[in-house]
Amino acid sequence: MGGKTQHPISNTQKSFIWRRLLAFLGLAAIAGLLVILINVQSFAMFPQARDFLTKTPQYPKVTKIPSPKPHSLPPTLAQWQDPTNSGDYFSQVAPTQVGYLVWSQFPVTVYIETPKAISTRQAETWVNEVLQAVQEWNPYLPLKVVETPEVADITILRKAPPLQFSPGNKFPRARSALTTYVLYTKENFLYHRFNILLHPSQTGKYLLAAVRHELGHALGIWGHSQIESDALYFSQVRNPPPISPRDVNTLKRVYEQPTSLGWTLSKAERTQSALRVHSSLGVGNPPSGLIHRTALA
Ligand SMILES: [Zn+2]
Repeated sequence: MGGKTQHPISNTQKSFIWRRLLAFLGLAAIAGLLVILINVQSFAMFPQARDFLTKTPQYPKVTKIPSPKPHSLPPTLAQWQDPTNSGDYFSQVAPTQVGYLVWSQFPVTVYIETPKAISTRQAETWVNEVLQAVQEWNPYLPLKVVETPEVADITILRKAPPLQFSPGNKFPRARSALTTYVLYTKENFLYHRFNILLHPSQTGKYLLAAVRHELGHALGIWGHSQIESDALYFSQVRNPPPISPRDVNTLKRVYEQPTSLGWTLSKAERTQSALRVHSSLGVGNPPSGLIHRTALA
């Protein structure tokens, strides 16, 4: 008897528990999906801090660096006057082991790789956004778009940057863009060359803002602004600003600084180091001798 009365209750309880469990699992699945969707969307819109400075790897000991000297200021920057007198963020720009990353030969050549993974029309739109950013910097430093990557000082690619692993974080961070440079020697002169990777998720005004920002790094602003209205602000913003007077003031100050780039080793330095440098560089179809690589995000 007791058994008979217990069974229906037990079944009701069981089915109740099952319903609760299913409802809970359903909710959990929906919540999980929402988290994923929100993350994907926020990544597409605001891939967080777009870039960051990574520590410069140890410079190979065999390499001698020409002693740093300033180059003469490019006329475009010499002419620049800031009517708003809005200052700069030069203190945020880091010199590297070769000094400031200034170009000394103009125009600086830029190669824009036409994307292959998207339609011709989408590729054209993408290239046009990149071209616009190149045009925006052109009044401050002469730039020239070239058709082959071999001769380019700066190469721009539509490609996801490698995930960023950092010591404190368990999970790697996605980056919307990454700018790296390499150093090479040609006839004993030290030069650099830049590579810019732009994440395929970047489109429209965010793509334009990313190229504008990364080109700022590649032109020598190796650091970030703390003010949102500057193109070199460290984070992405909803309404990306154009190149600001503060960006140009900072660029101008960078070009007044000493650098080892664009200079040659002294005769004494050369005889000391030439043999060792060449053997460490490996194959030297100039100007491809890779000495060192570092990145800014
Ligand atoms: Zn940056």
